[in-house]
Amino acid sequence: PVDMRGLADPDERAAESALRPTTLEEFEGQPRVAEQLGLVLAAARRRGGVPDHVLLSGPPGLGKTTLAMIIAAEMSAPLRISSGPAIQHAGDLAAILSGLVEGEVLFLDEIHRLSRPAEEMLYLAMEDFRVDVVVGKGPGATAIPIEIPRFTLVGATTRAGLLPGPLRDRFGFTGQLDFYAAADLDHIVRRSALLLGVDLDPDAAKEIARRSRGTPRIANRLLRRVRDFAEVRGSGRLTQAVAAAALELYEVDAIGLDRLDRAVLVAICKRFAGGPVGLSTLAISVGEERETVEEVAEPFLVREGFLMRTPRGRVATPAAWRHLGLKVPRDAGG
Ligand code: ATP
Repeated sequence: PVDMRGLADPDERAAESALRPTTLEEFEGQPRVAEQLGLVLAAARRRGGVPDHVLLSGPPGLGKTTLAMIIAAEMSAPLRISSGPAIQHAGDLAAILSGLVEGEVLFLDEIHRLSRPAEEMLYLAMEDFRVDVVVGKGPGATAIPIEIPRFTLVGATTRAGLLPGPLRDRFGFTGQLDFYAAADLDHIVRRSALLLGVDLDPDAAKEIARRSRGTPRIANRLLRRVRDFAEVRGSGRLTQAVAAAALELYEVDAIGLDRLDRAVLVAICKRFAGGPVGLSTLAISVGEERETVEEVAEPFLVREGFLMRTPRGRVATPAAWRHLGLKVPRDAGG
């Protein structure tokens, strides 16, 4: 199956970074976030200061890492990348923070997964540009304050609501990334085709854009899979027919649902009579982690009107039954 996040494979990661836009100008879509962020950066540049901390939220693959890189590039500042799960102890964070240089951009992916002590250290660092290093143990322990350079924290999370209030409040700007419109994805696919030197018909670009789940990462990955198909089974030229046949082979359906998306809908409709079914039960039944179902599959299914999250569990809408080619039961949700 196509790996949705594609982060497991180093070749995929390299291919991905080759296609990253490097300036806000080149960054397609998300017009509101791009404009607001552009202002924050321009104002900081005028003042010769360091921009406020930035929180980026949204489903995977919509451009959070890309935006962090753009922020650093636009400020001509170095960038340091880490993530919540990579920081095990507060001491790890203290080491990162005290190693920063003035104006550096620190990108923390999956910031909602920081440990409690690391999170508390971050509050002080964000607000006062200080860390308290504790020496000694028990009653004799003392906290030694250490000043750190002014930096910009760029935090990324799949949902801003996962962050504790005090952390959320310390960001000066929050950008909520949403799924991309088909026209934006069409531009992204064409730009990537140019960079990769592939011969892409306009209709094929549209076909790929339509099946990309509103996600640039997926658009770029599908483009590469279609290119493979065109090179091995065709003349190398990416036509609409080639794109449709390749995507069929990779189990991406006509509206972009992949295997996991369909498995979730099939499970709710067939095994749980349309729901409601709890997230944990649903995750077990499709053989995935709870988090993957909730953070990767569901946002798009909800957005497309196939699934509802209710207090009693997940419910398939009539559109879901229809999409699967099943008869809509009279009591179907939605
Ligand atoms: P994750 O949180 O899963 O790491 P992410 O939101 O950080 O995902 P990125 O790694 O920034 O996503 O983006 C994935 C790929 O999509 C990048 O390689 C980039 O080429 C492309 N991309 C993202 N946003 C845009 C955009 N606005 N315009 C063009 N390409 C984009």
